[in-house]
Amino acid sequence: MPSPSGSQVLVKVKAVGVCHSDLHLWEGGYDLGDGTFMKVTDRGVRYPVTPGHEIVGTVHEAGPDAEGVSAGDQVLVYPWVGCGRCVACGNGNENLCDTPRSLGVFQDGGYAEYVLVPSHRHLVGVSGVDPEGAASLACSGLTAYTAVKKANANSPEFIVVVGAGGLGLMGVQIAKAVTGAKVVCVDLDDAKLRTAGELGADFTLNSKDPRTDRRIISICNGTGADSVIDFVNAPATAKLGLSVLRKRGNLVLVGLFGGSVELSLVTVPLKAITIQGAYTGSYGDLVELLELARQGRISPIVSKRYPLGEANAALDDLRERRIVGRAVINP
Ligand code: NAD
Ligand code: ZN
Repeated sequence: MPSPSGSQVLVKVKAVGVCHSDLHLWEGGYDLGDGTFMKVTDRGVRYPVTPGHEIVGTVHEAGPDAEGVSAGDQVLVYPWVGCGRCVACGNGNENLCDTPRSLGVFQDGGYAEYVLVPSHRHLVGVSGVDPEGAASLACSGLTAYTAVKKANANSPEFIVVVGAGGLGLMGVQIAKAVTGAKVVCVDLDDAKLRTAGELGADFTLNSKDPRTDRRIISICNGTGADSVIDFVNAPATAKLGLSVLRKRGNLVLVGLFGGSVELSLVTVPLKAITIQGAYTGSYGDLVELLELARQGRISPIVSKRYPLGEANAALDDLRERRIVGRAVINP
């Protein structure tokens, strides 16, 4: 049982989201392509580590210097903890810190009864929203929000969302809530595409169909998509994204499925396309996102619940694509 010191806060976990990144952590790393595997231990992860970065719970005990929190407060944890001293942290982008200390990755996270949060500054109140749904806002919602903001930079008429999993379904909802674009959603799984349609996607396409690229271009006025957000980011999806992008288009890579693609270099300047990455999001964006949830403009989906003793089953179900939206573990 950890004991909070300084501005640390001990949170009793009510629900923790099961993210595909937990699977990558469990598997030990990422596929960089060309047969190279990047171990998370080469990025500073030290096992054993408790996974879980989408954490909602109640304050159990606050350290002597923690401000503005009291025992019993319902809180969402901002897990993307940085060093607090580098340029990124200084600009409020702790998620892009040079020496990250994220909870559930580099320090013990929420697949546990209690989690030690480094500071009261990494908590957000969750009054007015369903607390279990709020858990997924800390990663799937926040990452999708960052990606949609990047995809919205070229005033898109059409945004293509690739992958209708935990992140992609949030991406569809957020794109409908904060942009004026029509949303085209692509996945391999018809059940997930049906949910995407119910959540507001204007068009849904199963990419098992070899004509998917041509169908997307024809939906997008015959010229192609203004922006593509790839929540899978594997060779097949990245190639699809590049092939449907219109002139001045914007490709936002988010997923960590991995691999590599060959890039036709001349196309990048001739079409003046932008290829960029998005990694989680800032504390300020998490506060904005909770406000969207409070207003009912987005509603995170919790489709399945597991006790802590079934954490392995939860991860297996996610890997086998048996989860729609998000599953949570209730320790
Ligand atoms: P998920 O398992 O809930 O969803 C993945 C979805 O992709 C599923 O619906 C699946 O059917 C679909 N899919 C898989 N392969 C596909 C293909 N070839 N074509 C079309 N659809 C395909 O996963 P998630 O929790 O939404 O996470 C998605 C990815 O994003 C993971 O790699 C995760 O690690 C990563 N991630 C990145 C960040 C970031 O900040 N960049 C944050 C969180 C998660
Ligand atoms: Zn995550």
